Amino acid sequence: MDPQDVDGDLETILLSEEEIQRRLAEMAADIEKDYEGKDLLVLGVLKGAVMVMADLTRHLSRHVEQDWMAVSSYGSGTRSSGVVRIIKDLDTDITDRHVLVVEDIIDTGLTLSWLVSNLRSRGPASVEICTLLRKPEAAKTSVKVNYVGFDIPNSFVVGYGLDFNEKYRNLRVVATLAPHVYA
Ligand code: IMP
Repeated sequence: MDPQDVDGDLETILLSEEEIQRRLAEMAADIEKDYEGKDLLVLGVLKGAVMVMADLTRHLSRHVEQDWMAVSSYGSGTRSSGVVRIIKDLDTDITDRHVLVVEDIIDTGLTLSWLVSNLRSRGPASVEICTLLRKPEAAKTSVKVNYVGFDIPNSFVVGYGLDFNEKYRNLRVVATLAPHVYA
């Protein structure tokens, strides 16, 4: 979907398709360098990270294993509840594995800090974090984020995997929503 397909729903386009792809290619190059000679399991967090996973892993020129978890921290609104629930767990045993968690966005970081401690309790060789977007609040969390695509302002964004009430995930760009959509 392109911005003109949701005419009037978007306020500002923060990131174009080209900007997203260029940055993902750079992040993939960093990841390749850092994990050279190591086996890597890339863990996507459903559903928001689907697009990031698909494009980031295709920018990698090496083998990676992919697995998915689904956790829920948001209801249908625009604020983090802080309550995390596993909806779908990993299929893989991560004992002694190098795990790279791929996120769409880190807002309060509540979801992520819960997820990281859950994963660490399973005895992996390492757990690192990669996110396409990071909001200013995320700076307050204690979780170290190794790869950040873009730092964005503190507004609700949609597109490129991110939804509002399950819509806009298939938008090619990342944009802020016009207030009338969620008011
Ligand atoms: P956190 O726990 O506050 O860091 O929230 C993380 C999750 O909330 C993300 O993985 C998204 O699913 C969702 N989320 C946070 N901010 C936004 C946003 O601006 N748009 C859409 N979803 C968001």
